[in-house]
Amino acid sequence: MLVLVINCGSSSVKYDLIEASEEKEICHGIVERIGAVTSIVKHEPLHGEKIKDTKVISNHGEALQEILDYLLTSDAKIISSPSDIKAVGHRVVHGGEMFKDSVLIDDEVKDAIKQAFDLAPLHNPPNLKGIQAAQERLPDVPHVAVFDTAFHQSIPSKAYLYGIPNRLYRRHKIRRYGFHGTSHYYVSRQYYKMTDKPKSKTKVITCHLGNGASIAAIEGGESRDSSMGFTPLSGLVMGTRSGDLDPSVLFYIVEKEELPLNSLHAMLNRHSGLLGLSGYASDMRDLISEAQNGDRRCQQAIDVFCYNIKRYIGSYFATLNGCDAIVFTAGIGENAPLIREKSLENLDALGVEIDPKRNREAEPGKTVKISSDSSKTDVYVIPTNEELVIAIDAAKLATAHDQSPWV
Ligand code: ADP
Repeated sequence: MLVLVINCGSSSVKYDLIEASEEKEICHGIVERIGAVTSIVKHEPLHGEKIKDTKVISNHGEALQEILDYLLTSDAKIISSPSDIKAVGHRVVHGGEMFKDSVLIDDEVKDAIKQAFDLAPLHNPPNLKGIQAAQERLPDVPHVAVFDTAFHQSIPSKAYLYGIPNRLYRRHKIRRYGFHGTSHYYVSRQYYKMTDKPKSKTKVITCHLGNGASIAAIEGGESRDSSMGFTPLSGLVMGTRSGDLDPSVLFYIVEKEELPLNSLHAMLNRHSGLLGLSGYASDMRDLISEAQNGDRRCQQAIDVFCYNIKRYIGSYFATLNGCDAIVFTAGIGENAPLIREKSLENLDALGVEIDPKRNREAEPGKTVKISSDSSKTDVYVIPTNEELVIAIDAAKLATAHDQSPWV
């Protein structure tokens, strides 16, 4: 069953065409810089020529049309009719408290996504634009929304409530939500599958370390805590996001630097994290290479990044009262042995021991066990595949209208 997976940002549309029953990607691509003088278009089919082009694409609807035209008319002849696509899965960042599962999209769902605009002003509006544009072009196909927050809806109130007046939660739903849900879900499921561990008895700490980064505590297949909070800004130090901060720091900065309050948003989201600490780069590859050349601030940024991972892992050992496995995933988690090793150094008190050779030699893109044979806790690298989760969810909901793999 062919599923088109759509991930819309404010100026980009990413897509993956997936044969869901075989869990196989047929083609993926992106339209970037939508609305700029020229947009960049990339298509990468499994078989056939990769395309990179520039075009004038002024909105998300035109981007969707470009993608469908390519799939229909390229030399690769990827589909012969739009009706070959049997479902469309949309990544939606924020489902608030309304969605514990993926859902078939109807007007009510679209209204609910709109209601969550205030919670994710950078993400939900383009997500909805993508849904509307795709529905216009593929009106006879079921469209499914898969939420980044859904997997974390099992977090208990003692972990999701902040210590602020309760009326703020009741009035404005200010609470911890947690993000990267599809990734934490996917890699934890891969771990259960691979090791034949019963889901109900297994405790896993999953570390999604990309430009955005978060850690989840998972017990019995359900999320119990997430390092990300009300927005994806909190928790770990990230590429350009600050992660956790004493809120008083903000008042202090506004006063001392004479900054308007709204400039803090850009500072914390785009100029902080690894970039802010190093003053050099947000990309981990650049930081590792400069640190190896002796750059002290790049080394410090790496140290802070790894220490925060370790802090959360330690805390989630307590949350779960033990842990069967720690899983690393996403760009840094899958590709940077140095970061994995540093994040888990001196954790023998918790029974965590990495095998340095296994860790160093772990092949990117492969699932690899990197803990030593004597480690009480397994440590794995498991490549994530959020698009596949979206495709499978969309396929299931499109064929059995009341089922979802989330439950
Ligand atoms: P996003 O959150 O944008 O999806 P990714 O999961 O693609 O991010 O991760 C991007 C991060 O992964 C960047 O910091 C990049 O430097 C890092 N990364 C990718 N490959 C390597 C590598 N070989 N070594 C170290 N870091 C890497």
